[in-house]
Amino acid sequence: MSQYQTFTAEQAVAYAKEHSGLVDPSELVRAEEIGDGNLNLVFKIYDTQNVSRIIVKQALPYVRCVGESWPLTLDRARLEAQTLIEHYQHCPEHTVKVIHYDPEQYVIVMEDLSDHQIWRSGLIAGLHYPQAAQQLGEYLATVLFYSSDFYLHPHRKKELVAQFMNPQMCEITEDLFFNDPYMEHERNNYPAAIEKAVHALRDNSDLKVAVAELKQRFFSSPQALLHGDIHSGSIFVKSGSLKVIDAEFGFFGPMGFDLGCAIGNLLLNYCGAEGLFDKPTAQQAKAQRLGDIETLWSTFTERFSVLVKHHGSDQALCVDGYVSLFLRNIWRDTLGFAGTELIRRSMGLSHVADLDTISDEAQRHASLCRAIHLGRELILHTDVITDGDSLSAFVRRAF
Ligand code: ADP
Ligand code: MG
Ligand code: MG
Ligand code: MG
Repeated sequence: MSQYQTFTAEQAVAYAKEHSGLVDPSELVRAEEIGDGNLNLVFKIYDTQNVSRIIVKQALPYVRCVGESWPLTLDRARLEAQTLIEHYQHCPEHTVKVIHYDPEQYVIVMEDLSDHQIWRSGLIAGLHYPQAAQQLGEYLATVLFYSSDFYLHPHRKKELVAQFMNPQMCEITEDLFFNDPYMEHERNNYPAAIEKAVHALRDNSDLKVAVAELKQRFFSSPQALLHGDIHSGSIFVKSGSLKVIDAEFGFFGPMGFDLGCAIGNLLLNYCGAEGLFDKPTAQQAKAQRLGDIETLWSTFTERFSVLVKHHGSDQALCVDGYVSLFLRNIWRDTLGFAGTELIRRSMGLSHVADLDTISDEAQRHASLCRAIHLGRELILHTDVITDGDSLSAFVRRAF
């Protein structure tokens, strides 16, 4: 097999037998396609005991959730594999292990994390993983620091920036985050009941200027090798463990984009809480989400500062006092990007189950409006929200 072809379940098993690295690969007998994402085929490969042992993920030449009318580069499989490998090198505790990458079939064979749960599913079920926010903060601080100018030699940094150009996947982000929601576009998707909120957003010229500023930062700030799609559906958790998957949007971009995506998804769940849970559970879940955001940001800043202090190599950047200025700017970006995530997930192409699975229609619409409102407020008030605590206070004042 060398010419690209999309795998059937049988082919996925045969492929896994060759490339699993397992001691006894002949035990692998059955595959199940479990892809629930928007883009790719994902096979779980089971052994004779019916235990899933390994994952085979293959890129499709089009956007899965739209169809063949929207072609998409297969090269994203390379970017996913290389981003995960790069991140694993510095943060193996929190990055899924890539076992094999095939540049002809655009296939990644990787560690099976079926003993974990997708964080979003846990959040929607009202579960709290008390260590997750801290571990995510550690992951982001580590992988972003080791791919930043604080650490890398300037030649190596530029080499990596070139290797991780990801123009087609970036264009999806550029469109979905910064264009579509702010204009009429066929990709947008929202119920007529929230039309008023959508129009108010599009009539807000201050907001559009602030979003333009965020888009320009996304275009041209190669600060670090981002995951690029770090929402709660790209994160596996179990008690004491957190592992990141699905890095096909990886590229060198502004650190606040990853932080904002992660925080934005906790806030989306916050906005859905009243519709997802009974009253006491909603109160508790909301407090936990805000607590998680505070922990994520404080862990990120502490860990990043320690890494700069002990492993930073650029003398000028590592001068006393600079890292705190740098982190203040990252925080401002983070709030803005979190705001764009809240907005695009409420009215754009790709929604989140935290809002869309709310069965009561009025509650669902109210949650979508809350997310749009909060998104706008975050984007417009980055200057007055100074840290995680003040973000919590700001969100609580909003609702
Ligand atoms: P996409 O890029 O299409 O979004 P993902 O990488 O997010 O694909 O995978 C889709 C789903 O497949 C995940 O939500 C998860 O349920 C399952 N999955 C992906 N990787 C693994 C893994 N390493 N172990 C177990 N399940 C996985
Ligand atoms: Mg995914
Ligand atoms: Mg996806
Ligand atoms: Mg993906």
